Amino acid sequence: MATFRQRAMDEAATHGNGRFYNEEGPVSRYFGQNVLDLDKMRGYMSQQAYEAVLASVRYGAKLDRSVANEIASGMKAWAIEMGATHYTHLFQPLTDSTAEKHEAFISVKDGKAFEKFNGSALVQQEPDASSFPNGGLRNTFEARGYSAWDPSSPVFIMDGTLCIPSVFVSYTGEALDTKAPNLKSLHALSEAAVAVANLFDENVKSVKVNLGVEQEYFLVDESLYNARPDLMMTGRTVIGHTSAKDQQLEDHYFGAIPTRVSSFMKDFETEAYKLGILLQTRHNEVAPNQFECAPVFCEATKAIDQNMMLMIIMQKVAEKHHLKVIFHEKPFDGVNGSGKHCNWSITTDTGVSLLSPGKTPTKNLQFLSFYASVLRAVHRHHYLLMASVATLSNSYRLGGNEAPPSVMSVFSGSTLYGVFQAIMNMKDVKESVDSKQESIKIVNSIPEIFPDNTDRNRTSPFAFTGNRFEFRAVGSSQNVATAVCVVNSIVAESLREFRKYVDALEAAGEDRSSAVLAVVRRFITESRDIMFEGNGYSKEWEIEAASRGLRAVRNVPDAYEVFNEEATVEMFGKLGVLAPNEVQARFEILNETYVKKLQIEARILGDICLSHVIPAAVKYQNILIENVKGFKDIFGDSYMNYCAAEVETLKKISGYINNVSKDVELLVEARKKANRIENIAERAKVYSRDVKDMMDKIRESADNLEMLIDNEVWPLPKYRELLFF
Ligand code: ADP
Ligand code: MG
Repeated sequence: MATFRQRAMDEAATHGNGRFYNEEGPVSRYFGQNVLDLDKMRGYMSQQAYEAVLASVRYGAKLDRSVANEIASGMKAWAIEMGATHYTHLFQPLTDSTAEKHEAFISVKDGKAFEKFNGSALVQQEPDASSFPNGGLRNTFEARGYSAWDPSSPVFIMDGTLCIPSVFVSYTGEALDTKAPNLKSLHALSEAAVAVANLFDENVKSVKVNLGVEQEYFLVDESLYNARPDLMMTGRTVIGHTSAKDQQLEDHYFGAIPTRVSSFMKDFETEAYKLGILLQTRHNEVAPNQFECAPVFCEATKAIDQNMMLMIIMQKVAEKHHLKVIFHEKPFDGVNGSGKHCNWSITTDTGVSLLSPGKTPTKNLQFLSFYASVLRAVHRHHYLLMASVATLSNSYRLGGNEAPPSVMSVFSGSTLYGVFQAIMNMKDVKESVDSKQESIKIVNSIPEIFPDNTDRNRTSPFAFTGNRFEFRAVGSSQNVATAVCVVNSIVAESLREFRKYVDALEAAGEDRSSAVLAVVRRFITESRDIMFEGNGYSKEWEIEAASRGLRAVRNVPDAYEVFNEEATVEMFGKLGVLAPNEVQARFEILNETYVKKLQIEARILGDICLSHVIPAAVKYQNILIENVKGFKDIFGDSYMNYCAAEVETLKKISGYINNVSKDVELLVEARKKANRIENIAERAKVYSRDVKDMMDKIRESADNLEMLIDNEVWPLPKYRELLFF
């Protein structure tokens, strides 16, 4: 009988290069057709209602009930024209995915059917919150939570359902999602950045964050995926020997995109375009069957929502192509993992990019003020920043094969780095006229020497790339809202201090540009340890970083302790982003999620070993035993002259079988012991040590068995099959 694997391979061979493009002609014809943007909205409601939406989008103004009813009825009209039958609040609980509960528009009154959708349904829904992670925020007797429309993100239609991007909060108002705190962090950042920008231009009224999210992913054939219980359950392979060829020839990166993949890409891009997601790049990534796509950057909330939608669309479209999209950060050992690079920049409502050096000294002084504030923020909260992307799945990636290191640093490029050195070496600007001249010269010189934004360092987790920072440690499966919220918050805190120090110097009689430059200098000097221009993958940097006092994330649950540190709790609290109990809840949820995911991995590893690996090994042993017996029958006592290799293999297999079965038992023990620990953070720490160690050990034996056992009887698709379809 054929193994499950062989059947899967036969099936995979029939999957071909499907093409399903259902749109012809230029993309501009259908771009954004499934989104109700502000422009379209105007046609579906009165001027007054439209202006209410506008005020809500621009300034967060509250919508009153009568207007909400009119807006809802306009949305309903549009949605029905578009063929929608249901609506849902789409929210982002603390699970890194989205949640939706569909309600039908259809209603019946006096025997007559009609479509119903009113203002209160638009503004608020009350899904039962009891099954979402809440970290103790929800009273047991009050299971309700509610979701509320976020007007800054437009509604859209997916699969015949009107989707309403929403925040999700507990009945007592605490955030149970990633969107609510992120919106607050954007607000805090805008306020703090305006105060600093006003030092240079009084007309700045608001500052927004722009975000460009690069999404990496793997593709695996659906039949092979279904034959790997570990991929199905955990998104990664818990065993699997490396393939003889993987990425060593470096022939995949930017290579020709295989036809089957490009068909898939075109199809999901079409669907993304309809939702107004402006995808711009697509290419092969470093590992075999690994790819990337990136949209043009846009305002942060929209970019985050769009990334979440994109992940959903990609999965849905993949089904048509008999593919599975793997967003896990490290699905395969030994080859590169996947990230989600977050390109982050800030601009004023007057159209100035605050992280772009300008043509005049004032512009450059402004640029330096913002740059220095980011540096200070990243330096002070470097461990929090790494902890914000520390998950079980991302921990398999960080610090490994060409992935960002597990310690934070900022890369500025040689030109800027030179400017910072010069500023740090400057004498106190207050001291002499000379020094002032010198400083003006430095500031003046930036535009001339700065065009090299090609000066890039791929090994840095937080790199400046000319007009933005690229946060590269974010994991491919994560909702980037969490990381972006941290960046926004720590920078807001730093900018507040920047303005405070400048004000103090001015009050003491300093002129403005000297005061600003003095604070720039202070921030850069105090944060110089976070600056690193060299190879972030090197062993030397690991040692150097430690000697600078930079804390690396070696263990995920240890890193979560940063959420208990005063600097973290105070920072989120004073900015109004997360109250102390909300920070505490996140700490609990992160630990709980870590434990649950590792528990699932450990279980599936045990299952696979006992029900796939060992039976296959025994089957092959029996074949060998028969073979050896045959030799004995023919050659009598001298049989060993003919089958010494078979006997040797038999012994090796026995040894590995023993190891696997003994270690799986120990793994179960380790898990049971850990499960008895009441405190979730402590339990997570024990899991991260004992359970994980045992899993590594088991994997080694199982992978050795894969190498020894007859290919015909090995039941699980191998790396070479999964990675090269
Ligand atoms: P690379 O892989 O070389 O970093 P990509 O083209 O794949 O570059 O992605 C770069 C991302 O950065 C895109 O999403 C792009 O729109 C975004 N981006 C470019 N300029 C800015 C900016 N000023 N602010 C935020 N994101 C930006
Ligand atoms: Mg990039």
